[in-house]
Amino acid sequence: MVDSTPNQQLDDSAPHDVIPHDVIIVGGGLAGGLIALALHRHAPDCRFVVVEAGRSFGGHHRWSWFETDLPVKARPLMAGFDLNGWDEGYDITFPRLGRTLPTSYRSLASAEFHAKLIAELPAERVMLETKAASVDAGGVTLADGTRLTAKRVIDCRPFKPSKALSGGWQVFLGQQFRCETPHGLTRPVIMDASVDQLAPHGNGAAYRFVYVLPLSPTDVFIEDTYYADQPKMDADVLKGRVAEYAHRNGWKGEIVDQEAGILPVISGGDFTAALAEVAIPGVALAGARGGFSHPLTSYTLPFAVDNALAIAHLIARRPDLTGTELAAFCQRRAKRHWRATAYYRMLSRMLFEAAEPDKRVVVFEHFYTLRGALVERFYAGRSTWPDRLRILTGKPPVAIPRAIRALFSSGKPLNMETPA
Ligand SMILES: Cc1cc2nc3c(=O)[nH]c(=O)nc-3n(C[C@H](O)[C@H](O)[C@H](O)COP(=O)(O)OP(=O)(O)OC[C@H]3O[C@@H](n4cnc5c(N)ncnc54)[C@H](O)[C@@H]3O)c2cc1C
Repeated sequence: MVDSTPNQQLDDSAPHDVIPHDVIIVGGGLAGGLIALALHRHAPDCRFVVVEAGRSFGGHHRWSWFETDLPVKARPLMAGFDLNGWDEGYDITFPRLGRTLPTSYRSLASAEFHAKLIAELPAERVMLETKAASVDAGGVTLADGTRLTAKRVIDCRPFKPSKALSGGWQVFLGQQFRCETPHGLTRPVIMDASVDQLAPHGNGAAYRFVYVLPLSPTDVFIEDTYYADQPKMDADVLKGRVAEYAHRNGWKGEIVDQEAGILPVISGGDFTAALAEVAIPGVALAGARGGFSHPLTSYTLPFAVDNALAIAHLIARRPDLTGTELAAFCQRRAKRHWRATAYYRMLSRMLFEAAEPDKRVVVFEHFYTLRGALVERFYAGRSTWPDRLRILTGKPPVAIPRAIRALFSSGKPLNMETPA
C-alpha cells in the first residue's frame, strides 16, 4: 500500500504543475472513473485530472447490477457504455426452488469502461500508468517525484481490509467461454446453488453458487462463487469446478477471459475507526475504500454512480467548495450509508455465524421465495421496514439460539490482506 503522508514537504527541485487543478482523482477504478465522467458532463468548467497507476481505467473485471439498483435519474451516467443487458428477467436455482424473476440485469466489462472513458474524457484529464506515491490535501506527489497540486483531492484507491471491521468473504473466479455451438441460454442465472456446497480451497464447506451470464449466443461467462469464512482461494480448484459446470451443461469451447476476486462481506465493526485508518486530513474518500459498498453482496456500482453524480453536482453548484468541505461531504455520505446498511450487516452475521457453512444455502433459498419487488429493493440496498420484517419471518432457516447469539456477536475481524 502506498504512503499517505499528510503534510508533504515539497522538494523545490522536483517538477510540479503551475496552475493547481480544481480536482485530482487518485485511482481510476470504477469509483474514480465515474467521478471523472460525472465531472466532465455536469461540471464542465472543472479542471480535473485522474491519476491511475494501471494501464487502463477499471482494472480487469466485469461489473454487473440490476437495472433497479440505479434510480431512474442516475441511469444516464451508465447509458453510454457498451453494456450487456437482459430485459427478460433472470433465473435462480436452489435444491428445492427454481424461479425466474422479472428484473432487468446489466453487465459492463472493464475494457468497455476504459474505452468509453478514453473516448469521452479530454486527453489532458487522464494520466494512466501514473502512480501516486503520496496524497495530501494540497495535491499528489507522483512516484517519479512530480508534484501535482489541487484545490481538492479525492482518494479512490482500492479498499483496504481493516481489523476494525468484521465479517466473512466472497471468493470467486469466473471464466468466459466461447462455445463451439450456441449455448442456448437467454437469461442470466444469478444464483445456481444446486451445486455441491464445497469450500473454495479444497476442503470444508461454504455457501457456493454458480453465476452464469449469456454474453452472446456463443459466449457464456461462468463464475464459481463462495461465501466463505477465510479469504482463501485455490484458483486451480475453482477453474476445475467451472470446467465441470460447463461440461455438465454441454458447453464446449475456448476460454477467452477470466476474472477472480476476494471481497469482504461486512457484518459489523467500528466504521469510524476503519475510516480513520485510510483517511487523510482534507482529502475526500470515495469508492470501496471510502465505505461505499453493499455489506452482503460487496457490490459498489450503485453507490459509485450515486456518489459520482452527487460530487459533480456539488462542485458545479459550489465552485468555491474547499477540499476540506468536499472531504466532510463524502464522510457524511459514508456514515449515512453505513447507518442505512445496518440491516444487511445483521443479515451477514446471520449468514456467517448462525448458519453452518453447508446450511448457508438454506438462508438464500428462503430469501428467494419472497416477492420480486422485495428482492429488487434488497439488492439496491433500499429495503423497506415491512421488507426487513418479511425477510426475518416465516420458518427460520437457522437455529434460534444461534441466531440470537449472532445478533449480538462482534464477528471475526476483516484484517487479512486480500491475496492478489
Ligand atoms: C473481480 C471483481 C468483480 C466484481 N464484480 C462486481 C459487480 O459485478 N458489481 C459490483 O457492483 N461490484 C463488483 N465488484 C466489487 C466492486 O464494485 C469493485 O471492486 C470495484 O471495482 C471497486 O471500485 P473502486 O473504484 O472503489 O476500487 P478499484 O476498482 O479497486 O479501483 C482502485 C484504483 O486505484 C488504482 N490505484 C491504486 N493505487 C494507486 C496509486 N498509488 N496511484 C494511482 N492509482 C492507484 C488502482 O489501479 C485501481 O484502478 C467486483 C470486484 C472484483 C474484484
